[in-house]
Amino acid sequence: MRISHLLNMLNNDDKDVRELARSSLFLDLRRRKVPLARESEPHFLGFKRKSSGKLDTHSAGFGVWSDWPDLNDLCVRTGVSLEWAKSDSRTVRVSEDIITDPLTYVRATATYGGHSHPLTSTGARRTLMDLHQHHQKQYWAGLKLQGKLACLPSANHSVSHSFLKNTALSEDIVIFTVKARLQVLPTRFNLSIWFSTTQVLYCLHHTTEQMTETLPHILNGCHAHKGMYIARHDRIVDLIAKEISSHFSSSVRMYKHSFCKTIHVSVLQ
Ligand SMILES: [Zn+2]
Repeated sequence: MRISHLLNMLNNDDKDVRELARSSLFLDLRRRKVPLARESEPHFLGFKRKSSGKLDTHSAGFGVWSDWPDLNDLCVRTGVSLEWAKSDSRTVRVSEDIITDPLTYVRATATYGGHSHPLTSTGARRTLMDLHQHHQKQYWAGLKLQGKLACLPSANHSVSHSFLKNTALSEDIVIFTVKARLQVLPTRFNLSIWFSTTQVLYCLHHTTEQMTETLPHILNGCHAHKGMYIARHDRIVDLIAKEISSHFSSSVRMYKHSFCKTIHVSVLQ
């Protein structure tokens, strides 16, 4: 959002807006004594960055707050690089002349996974969000166990919000689900964080070992509720079985709640 806004101001069709934004950039960074970057040095709009990504300022505290250093940090975080270019897409060195040169514009590029993607002032937000989501999916896909379902092309991400539209659910269950997702249910673990002097974080169902009573522990891990976990599992199996049974002929036999042994047959040629 802010990167779109920044591009919009620096590349604005209105001469006054554009020149004001550019003057503000020059004035601010000059007062912070940020030197211009030499060729191949890391930079934010031509101004030198330190290896940490921060602006190479020699006078941070002259008492005037401004957006520019923040925007530099934002660009570093989101992998966006900004440079001055001519309309024939030639890169130009930064100088005061740029303030009044209408043929020079700011070119924004987002780099993700070694690939560069151009950003426009209107579509920057969408492009960055798409890139971020793509990056996240790749991360999930690389995990050994978790998150693979979310990467399937057929995965419907709106399912995780379906409880909000499910009129069959009682209000209690909806409230429970919302609180569970926000991690604000009064589990012993949460209570021990909120009231550290009076609450213990362990589940009371265990005598020999101490188990932290977190939400995953209550929903999946506590032996005291094992019967309920099995009942929940079987109920889901029944629902799925009912749903898919209509897709098979009556001669196909379905096994539920029973142990099936997988037999590996090797064919020798
Ligand atoms: Zn327990």
